[in-house]
Amino acid sequence: MATTTFTKKRLGLETPESAAPPPPPGPPASFPKKPKIGQTKARKRDIPEGLWTKCPKCSVMLYDKELDENLKVCQRCHHHFPIGARERIHSLVETCSFQEMDAEMTSVDVLEFTGVASYATKLQDYQKSTGLKDAVITGVGKINSHKVALGVMDFNFLGGSMGSVVGEKLTRMIETGTDRGLPVIIISTSGGARMYEGMFSLMQMAKTCGALAYHAKQKLPYLSVLTHPTTAGVMASFASVGDLIIAEPGAMIGFAGPRVIKDTTQSELPPGFQTAEFLLEHGLIDAIVHRKEMKERLCYYLDFLTEGQRQMAALG
Ligand SMILES: [Zn+2]
Repeated sequence: MATTTFTKKRLGLETPESAAPPPPPGPPASFPKKPKIGQTKARKRDIPEGLWTKCPKCSVMLYDKELDENLKVCQRCHHHFPIGARERIHSLVETCSFQEMDAEMTSVDVLEFTGVASYATKLQDYQKSTGLKDAVITGVGKINSHKVALGVMDFNFLGGSMGSVVGEKLTRMIETGTDRGLPVIIISTSGGARMYEGMFSLMQMAKTCGALAYHAKQKLPYLSVLTHPTTAGVMASFASVGDLIIAEPGAMIGFAGPRVIKDTTQSELPPGFQTAEFLLEHGLIDAIVHRKEMKERLCYYLDFLTEGQRQMAALG
């Protein structure tokens, strides 16, 4: 529907005559100008204020407002666009049930890293452009009737890279889950460890996994959701150790990029390599779930995984 409206408007603007009935023979030179002004005004009012986004998969033009309402999924081909952490939390948890943790935690430039721009400047820029303090939002909220500890990463903040803040916030969230007996859900999207923090970012891999091990000891479920792209240090740590690992359709999931692997192994990679679909077929992930069905599915899995806990509670 959106495309049709768009095309019509484009056509109308370019050739105003075509929209009107055939012109009467020999009209006065000034005559067509008047309706033209009126028409333009009406059209201006019709033209939506938002922008259009072209779907990279099916090339259809999507009206931003509709795309937002559809949780950033193309209506035509179901391509999943990146979605911000806040929008995603909003799409999953019950209204007003989310209590954010460590919202003000920010990175320290321990190494005083300077490349093209200093790390400190980069942090400031990304904080300004995204409205986030770092690449993850954590907290406790309710998904239907299930109270869960939830961590959602945001790729817009320095490529969702895991520095000490991402690691620390996730660890604290997992520990809260363990203390309060809550399931943990982490929705990942990341380019990997944050190079600006060197070793401090690498040690987050062990730290988050350690916290998850204590969580698992309490027989509490951990659901890992992989979204496009989930790679490197994040995939090699907490993202790949879920009791259930779920992915969004078409997500790129892997450790090193395909080009690096191809060059290292000197071999042709199979078609669809490192996509969610390929990994489902090969057993690394358990399910592929459409973004719009994610909440319902997470509830279904939580019902199943917390059944024992509920029975124990009933027995007293
Ligand atoms: Zn599309």
